[in-house]
Amino acid sequence: MLKTIVYIAGYGRSGSTLLERLLATHPQIEGLGEVSSLFRAMEQQEAQCACGEPLASCPVWKSVYAQLQTQEKQKQLWKKLQMRFEAFPLGMAFARLWPEQYQTYCRFLQWLFESVSSALPTATVLVDSSKTAWPMAWRPLHLAKCLQVPVKVIHLVRDVRGCMWSNLRLNNQAAEQGEFSGIPWASFRTALHWPIANMVAQAYQHAYPEHYLRIRYEDFVASPAAVMRSLSDFLEMDLSAQAALVDQMRTQALVLPRTHQVSGNRLRFRDQFKIRGDFSWRTSLQGHQRLLAWVCAGFVAQRYGYTWKSADGSEEKA
Ligand SMILES: [Zn+2]
Repeated sequence: MLKTIVYIAGYGRSGSTLLERLLATHPQIEGLGEVSSLFRAMEQQEAQCACGEPLASCPVWKSVYAQLQTQEKQKQLWKKLQMRFEAFPLGMAFARLWPEQYQTYCRFLQWLFESVSSALPTATVLVDSSKTAWPMAWRPLHLAKCLQVPVKVIHLVRDVRGCMWSNLRLNNQAAEQGEFSGIPWASFRTALHWPIANMVAQAYQHAYPEHYLRIRYEDFVASPAAVMRSLSDFLEMDLSAQAALVDQMRTQALVLPRTHQVSGNRLRFRDQFKIRGDFSWRTSLQGHQRLLAWVCAGFVAQRYGYTWKSADGSEEKA
């Protein structure tokens, strides 16, 4: 039987992997990671679940994996339909234009979540942290329509300049290690994609206001226990143990149990975590990059309480 879905929306580089890992410490919650990237994950050699097992033998993903591996034609069709209906800007219009294909896509989502859900008999809440970057912008709305279960959206927002610096640093690290140089045009892409991902997340608020909660990364790192308590109310679950846990994690690194996150940030394989805000963009991001971020995304960032001045940290000190 299908369960409640918690969907983490917004732009990446905002702390969603850690948030999902924290929620999944609750015995009734399981983190599935960026489920929209399942097809991409399967294309990698030795695709691995966050639990440490290859997808082919992970107790949660193996039946989905086996079925997709053996039905190549079906897999390609589902992959195409997912892209068609979830992508910004026309996915929602396409869903109305092609009702039969949309039904096929819906049945795929139902099959996917039912298969995973039946492998997790004790979990009543499944987390999909695909977020709402343009290729999966409309995904939470489709999940709510197709699955016929409550889909609760946590819209995670981080200052666009923090996201930009995080992407640039990721590129630098990749270059230092001689790997693929990461995201091309990282600062431009962040400045253009950040407002889309966040505005689309708010479209969900208009459709299902009672199933939407916005959390700012900056508030989470400042008072994680308070944010956990608000999540407790939103999800109608007792998260007091998680609130105590995050309070402890402000001063000491703690081991979090692994989840079955199928794709996403590499932090899904990490064991120890400590909660500390990363505001290094304030000293590291260059003037022209800040300006680019603010010109492209400032009009959306202001809605969430960010100002041009938050660049020097004066707000938090005040
Ligand atoms: Zn697993």
